[in-house]
Amino acid sequence: MAWASYPTREEVDFVVIGSGAAGGIMAKELSSAGFSVVVLEQGPHLRPGDFRHDEWNYTQTEGLVWGSRKGHPQTFRRYEHEKAELVEGAPLGYAHNVGGSSAHFSGNFWRLRPIDFIEASVRGPIAGTNFVDWPITYEELEPYYTKVDWEIGLSGVEGPWDPPRSKGYPCPPMPPKSSGVLLERAAKKLGWTAYPEPHAILSQPYNGRPGCIHCGFCNGFGCEVGAKSSTAVTMIPLAEATGKCELRTGCTVSRINTNEQGRVTEVVYWEEDGTEQAQRAKAVVLSANGAESARLLFLSESSRFPDGLANSSGMVGKNLMFNGGSNVSGLFAEPINAHKSVATTRVIHDFYSIDPKHGFYGGGGIDARSLSRGLPMAAAMRGGIFSGARWGSAYKKGLEQEFTHTCSFNGHTTSLPLSTNNVTLDPEVKDKWGRPALRTTFMNHPDDFATMKFFMERSIELMDAAGAIQKTASYSEDGQRGGVHLLGTCRMGNDPATSVVNRYNRAHDIPNLYMVDGGSLVTSGRGQPTMTIMALAFRAADHLIQAARRGEV
Ligand SMILES: Cc1cc2nc3c(=O)[nH]c(=O)nc-3n(C[C@H](O)[C@H](O)[C@H](O)COP(=O)(O)OP(=O)(O)OC[C@H]3O[C@@H](n4cnc5c(N)ncnc54)[C@H](O)[C@@H]3O)c2cc1C
Ligand code: SF4
Repeated sequence: MAWASYPTREEVDFVVIGSGAAGGIMAKELSSAGFSVVVLEQGPHLRPGDFRHDEWNYTQTEGLVWGSRKGHPQTFRRYEHEKAELVEGAPLGYAHNVGGSSAHFSGNFWRLRPIDFIEASVRGPIAGTNFVDWPITYEELEPYYTKVDWEIGLSGVEGPWDPPRSKGYPCPPMPPKSSGVLLERAAKKLGWTAYPEPHAILSQPYNGRPGCIHCGFCNGFGCEVGAKSSTAVTMIPLAEATGKCELRTGCTVSRINTNEQGRVTEVVYWEEDGTEQAQRAKAVVLSANGAESARLLFLSESSRFPDGLANSSGMVGKNLMFNGGSNVSGLFAEPINAHKSVATTRVIHDFYSIDPKHGFYGGGGIDARSLSRGLPMAAAMRGGIFSGARWGSAYKKGLEQEFTHTCSFNGHTTSLPLSTNNVTLDPEVKDKWGRPALRTTFMNHPDDFATMKFFMERSIELMDAAGAIQKTASYSEDGQRGGVHLLGTCRMGNDPATSVVNRYNRAHDIPNLYMVDGGSLVTSGRGQPTMTIMALAFRAADHLIQAARRGEV
């Protein structure tokens, strides 16, 4: 089958902006349905053979996650009355390549549960927040979660409190690591239940891809064998094989143009050498993630849309949520070697919803991980939590212990949606293309803090029960300063006055514009949002294909 190639001045059926977790699915679904599709992706197309165990490149020099060093500065402030400061690295972190962050995520894949969609009604409103019910239910999304399981490729086994599912997992769970065994034993002592973590990683060969070889360079790294189920190795090859999808890499979208009728007409972008192009399209799917989609909508303002595209509600960029977290690290007398294999193999969901008697809203899960993404160098950079030494024999001794004898029990928790937590355009700092930089304004709600502390305390109990000889514990007491779960900034809802997209991810204001990525999540879930981002993408594609066939797009 010949690869598709479309002239820019010819109208294609769809342009998909971004080839990440959601964009990859949209490209595959739309092209498989026979539509002509152009995917515009700013990053390169890295194949499994391109990924290296190069901790310096990936963790220190912005190899995959671009920041100031790569000409993509970002600024941060706590409150809207403050001036945002330039921050080193990328507070809103994501991988710039085909597959987006699904290329280097750790692949922990939790479904939301029925309660997540109706929690505001059940729990009641929370003053000062935009905490509301979703416009859809778990039952409506369930078939699409199952599509993610089988089309993306998941490994797992039904957990004790899993929501109803129409089908099991295609692959058995990943084998337990010693950190997972420690968590499981500790949980048992305390009367809680640790069960196998579901993964978007193959535990055995599936769909023509090999199983995980447990290399240990997983979280933050691309998978050298293609066992990690990123859209780069699952959806994009299928999309290209239809002969209907053209993937253009190194193409950075600068704006989406609209006509006098308020419909999108074309997508303007720069090729790598700075040449400007514009691809005409009947409809546009914006899947640039919870940070970049909002930036593009702002940058696409016009006299008809002075506050940015699709922003009549004023909600674009608002309700930014990251998921909270806590960390309890433990030193053990015996080796654990938590750096091996995937990030985590056991998870506890006993506190999915914290009892309201505690006086605050929240919930989450706890899993067992390695301290420093399994990297000796990262441990060195931190000076070692337990030894404190950065040099000489004390450092060597500490490193020997820290790398092999430690693990952490991490809390992954809810974030509340607030108008004051948002992504906007920085008025002064520009990126290498001359576009205003992403500006983040973020301060956690008091309930987010209480939840993170609650999870830290449960993890301390677990670490003691696991037999750690030394431990440290922390959460973001001063507030989170960024994240890699970029959620809520184009929220879904039935009411155009309070939401950006409808229940099928279609912009309320513009009939031929869809926003399909982490931005559409209404609430944060308890962590690990990508399973839901992908299920929403399959559902949006289903609706879009039917609407397009009826001539309603
Ligand atoms: C290190 C790490 C670990 C993670 N681990 C997990 C995990 O275990 N479980 C989990 O559920 N989630 C995890 N996540 C989060 C997960 O990866 C994201 O939720 C998910 O990838 C978001 O999907 P998306 O489609 O919204 O955006 P992305 O996957 O970020 O895709 C957006 C794409 O759009 C492209 N793009 C952006 N702007 C433009 C533009 N102007 N022009 C052209 N292209 C553009 C980007 O380059 C990117 O490829 C992790 C993230 C990171 C960084
Ligand atoms: S641990 Fe497994 S899934 Fe992760 S990068 Fe290594 S081989 Fe790939």
